[in-house]
Amino acid sequence: MMEPLHLTHSPLPRTLNTIMEATAGKKILVVEDEQDIAQLVQHYLQKEGFRSVTAMSGVEALKKVKEEKPDLIVLDLMLPEMDGLDVCKRVRSAPDTAMIPIIMLTAKAEESDTIVGLELGADDYVTKPFSPKALVARVKALLRRIDRTASTGPAHYRCGALTLDPTRHEVSLNGQEIPLTAKEFGLLEHLLRHRGRVLTREVLLNAVWGYDYYGTTRTVDVHIRRLKQKLPLLEDAILSVKSLGYKLKDTD
Ligand code: CA
Repeated sequence: MMEPLHLTHSPLPRTLNTIMEATAGKKILVVEDEQDIAQLVQHYLQKEGFRSVTAMSGVEALKKVKEEKPDLIVLDLMLPEMDGLDVCKRVRSAPDTAMIPIIMLTAKAEESDTIVGLELGADDYVTKPFSPKALVARVKALLRRIDRTASTGPAHYRCGALTLDPTRHEVSLNGQEIPLTAKEFGLLEHLLRHRGRVLTREVLLNAVWGYDYYGTTRTVDVHIRRLKQKLPLLEDAILSVKSLGYKLKDTD
């Protein structure tokens, strides 16, 4: 790596670079039972300025998720005792960990069977054998994507001809206002805010109805159905994710 000559005497440029790279310093949990792979991935992550911790099993992974509160999880699918899909489901179902981005590692042979499964809750997946460099690039890309959507958020959310204005509490379709109840609005806003991500019924219930709400997760289904009735374009846009919850497609 070449360093600009006029800056070599100052420690500042390095610091600046670190600050400017939004992904640097983020903590990555690597869940992989094959130690060689875990170490290799960890090495490359650290080289790129990430902090990283590892877990060798699904059970250990869940423990580390709680203790370490990682910014992202690299999760191997094939793990002893509890597999990656189960870990993913558990992480997605607990409100305090539901939004942690997950990249799944999967072997080529497992691919066809698991693509559908991965859709259940992983944000991205990488097929083995993989280059650690490419994996780190995917980690960075995912963190940036999530950082962009999470930071303050846009003034308006759009989905095709639909616009949601959070400050004015208005939803319009082709410029015409569509009356929604407060809960319908909250549900739609949450889906738009986390577009492309799987949101479990529990997470939606907590986000829109609050932790002290006594209803069941069926409430979420009922309101999703009402939203789709009022806004038919959501019929195709909101995907029902088997046994987990819902996701708003991230393409128009
Ligand atoms: Ca494995």
